[in-house]
Amino acid sequence: MSSLYVPPPKCLEKRFVAPQRHMFGPGPSNVPPRILAAGAEPVIGHMHPEMFEIMSDIRSGIQYAFQTRNKVTLAVSGTGHAAMECAIFNAVEPGEDVLMAVNGIWGERAAEIAERIGARVNTIRTPAGSCFTNEDINQALARHKPCVVLFTHGESSTGVLHPLDGIGDICHRHNCLFVVDCVASMGGAPLYMDTQGIDILYTGSQKVLNAPPGTAPISFSERAWQKVFNRKTKPVSFFLDMSWLANYWGCDDSWVIGLSDWSDLLLGRYHHTGPVTNFYSLRESLAVLAEQGLENSWCRHQEVAEYFHEGLENMGLRLFVKDKNVRLPTVTTIVAPPGYDWKEITSYIMKNHKLEISGGLGPSVGQVLRVGLMGCNSSKASVDMVLEALKDALKHCHKSRV
Ligand code: PMP
Repeated sequence: MSSLYVPPPKCLEKRFVAPQRHMFGPGPSNVPPRILAAGAEPVIGHMHPEMFEIMSDIRSGIQYAFQTRNKVTLAVSGTGHAAMECAIFNAVEPGEDVLMAVNGIWGERAAEIAERIGARVNTIRTPAGSCFTNEDINQALARHKPCVVLFTHGESSTGVLHPLDGIGDICHRHNCLFVVDCVASMGGAPLYMDTQGIDILYTGSQKVLNAPPGTAPISFSERAWQKVFNRKTKPVSFFLDMSWLANYWGCDDSWVIGLSDWSDLLLGRYHHTGPVTNFYSLRESLAVLAEQGLENSWCRHQEVAEYFHEGLENMGLRLFVKDKNVRLPTVTTIVAPPGYDWKEITSYIMKNHKLEISGGLGPSVGQVLRVGLMGCNSSKASVDMVLEALKDALKHCHKSRV
């Protein structure tokens, strides 16, 4: 008789096969065969010299995607939330003032994260679907005197692309670090970390990059790095401590890739076991972006978004973000069609078209449908597919008479 209290689960006897879906929600997006294949390569050690070479390639790829020459550039082992926590945990000490710009769920989340580490959290707020003017920002900085201000470039909950020009200068005049979340926008809309004066920038792997979820590129400017370096307290998280991560990723250029002294590398660099195959996929996704060209990618996302928006309006649907100039090209928010239950629409489309679109999130719940067309999914063919699916759903889902 077995001594085991819990038997092997029956459900694990069945082989799992992932369903094929069009991933047109706000993320994750589809992973193209080339990136999937990279992730299926054999696992090697997270400290093997070839791995350090891959990590070095990833750093160069992120520098290109972010348009930065920052040395402290790497990928956090975790999703966008891990990068968000990494930015805030490292840049902010307990008791310091921060300012979170809230125009959707991501500013709200950042405020919650900062509050959890004992920061004094101030917010500026604007209704979902709109953004702040540089004058609003200037006044809020003068009032709250924060050491860090955080903006979301692509607010995926509301579909807003927040303009960034000029904010960096305003922040620096007020002696404050400018932190930007570009999880939903990077690669899909123009972004220039260095020239826009961004001090900490982070994204995720599963949106425009089309890699699986689980790695999150992040970069710290020299100004941000000085603040980390001069902290009085250690960051609350060991796992997300940027000094350790920068060492693991070789951001200080102190290690040389070579087969000769593995043992030194092992002793000096170990922080945690990086997700080896996720790094392969991330490297490949950055290679795809570099091959396509960042500007081409930005243009394609903009053109496809405009084509989509026109198609939606021709169907009689309305866009949630009124100002054309601040519509996020990667994630579109459509006013939930009046008289319909949005959940019935998303379920119908999933069931009949094997296509994911989603409802709202945070302040947009119940108000919108969200469609993400990112990376390889940003094409006119995908738009046609979504428009067909929506037409079909509006024909077949229940419409109340009121
Ligand atoms: N910020 C933004 C703008 C996002 O869209 C997301 C993901 N939807 C996140 C942060 C969090 O990323 P993750 O779900 O990968 O943790």
